[in-house]
Amino acid sequence: MVLKRVLVIGAGLAGSEAAMFLARNNIQVVLIEGKTIQLNPAQKIPTFAELVCTNSLKSMEPTSGHGILKNEMKAMGSLVLECGAVHAVPAGDALAVDREKFSEEITNRLSQHPNIRVVSLEADDPLALMKHFECQYVIVATGPLTTSKLESWIKEMSGDDFYFYDAIAPVVDADSLDLSKMYFKDRHKEMEEGGDYLNSQMNKEQYYEFVDALATAEKVPQKDFEDWKFFESCLPIDLMAERGKDTARFSCMKPVGLEPDIKGKWPYAVVQLRKENLLGSAYNLVGFQTRLTYKEQVRVFRMIPGLENASFIHLGSCHRNSFLNARKLLRSDLSSKKHPELYFAGQITGVEGYTESASIGLYVAYQVLRRMKGLNPVSFPVETAIGALVNYIMTIEKPCPSNINFGLLPSVELTKEQRKGDRKRTKKEIVSKRAFDVFQNFYSETIVSTLN
Ligand SMILES: Cc1cc2nc3c(=O)[nH]c(=O)nc-3n(C[C@H](O)[C@H](O)[C@H](O)COP(=O)(O)OP(=O)(O)OC[C@H]3O[C@@H](n4cnc5c(N)ncnc54)[C@H](O)[C@@H]3O)c2cc1C
Repeated sequence: MVLKRVLVIGAGLAGSEAAMFLARNNIQVVLIEGKTIQLNPAQKIPTFAELVCTNSLKSMEPTSGHGILKNEMKAMGSLVLECGAVHAVPAGDALAVDREKFSEEITNRLSQHPNIRVVSLEADDPLALMKHFECQYVIVATGPLTTSKLESWIKEMSGDDFYFYDAIAPVVDADSLDLSKMYFKDRHKEMEEGGDYLNSQMNKEQYYEFVDALATAEKVPQKDFEDWKFFESCLPIDLMAERGKDTARFSCMKPVGLEPDIKGKWPYAVVQLRKENLLGSAYNLVGFQTRLTYKEQVRVFRMIPGLENASFIHLGSCHRNSFLNARKLLRSDLSSKKHPELYFAGQITGVEGYTESASIGLYVAYQVLRRMKGLNPVSFPVETAIGALVNYIMTIEKPCPSNINFGLLPSVELTKEQRKGDRKRTKKEIVSKRAFDVFQNFYSETIVSTLN
């Protein structure tokens, strides 16, 4: 007998979306949640889909990355957005919610759905639980603070391709850089060969001023449960600055293998930026993972020559975060290469953010539904926000969780006419409109037929 039942582990943002999507499509769901037994140190309430930090689900503006993502989630019947709308609180263009009422609403809707059985349990072995609950597939959506029992199981399955910690360097919008103060060159390669790295040089005075600013800037305080253990080869730039004035100059800011400046003077230190995507629309500050508060990052990193007016696509951070190397371990439908009946969803797949995690819950549930109907997995077009997120985690060589941003979406060439006005805004409008149109087509041609 074929069982039409799916086990979902974790009733967070992704798990709640996945469970409701499947239940609404006539699939029986067993939903396991551990917080009802013990809260993790970031959680405060026993109900589902808890927003552990800010209560904002970010922008609703249609020409923002989050706006595009919300449009797609809404079309797919997002429970998070439905409940968000019911319990919204004023926040300008953003969707912010009363977190307790929002979480309560999600819990009630899931618990009261006739196709969902909620089980209070701390999961350990997903495959054994899948058998125990007589399910065909299992979706693990246990998030950045997956409990240790399950973490051990995943680690055993994935070895070095499972991470517990996340140190993210900031990413800047290429259009906001002053290229007259920077140049392309890879270390130890001839200038004529071009290069993948964009270099910003500092003289002695600039460097020490910068290091002082890093050392004295305000840092994000460490949370009790975050035992920050840094790899020596991947220290936050501000910690290097605290360790010694010249530490960074002998590490990621070393001035070797490069060029003298236009006046023929060799640099004292160098900041390197690397393309974040093939199109070169965004750049990563190499080695600049940091504990600085967001406000301080903007202030201090704008001291770097060429970054005076930098617009940051995302800022750096250091926090506990369990996530997989999706490219190595998962297939494009986010099922495990090793155990095809096992899927992952949410932040654990390598995306970052409430809305992004929820959207991946919808994506995975949709792929599971297709499989249960005997259909092959289907890729979402990369021009859509969900497609761009999946494409990012499935292609990034050195995994680094990302939220949705324009850097993940294919860029567009502006016509001469379009270049006359506000280029950045025009690009955003075109990319958003394209995302909207491509998703509409994909939705009516592919998604709807799976649901009916
Ligand atoms: C401290 C912190 C602050 C954050 N702040 C923000 C923010 O302000 N804005 C933002 O957009 N993103 C933020 N994030 C990032 C992230 O997007 C959210 O954590 C988001 O909730 C992830 O969604 P998820 O569904 O993948 O996981 P979660 O929402 O964390 O859901 C996972 C669920 O699985 C349960 N679970 C875990 N292990 C087990 C187990 N073994 N058995 C059963 N259940 C289990 C958990 O109790 C939880 O309910 C933050 C992350 C952290 C860690």
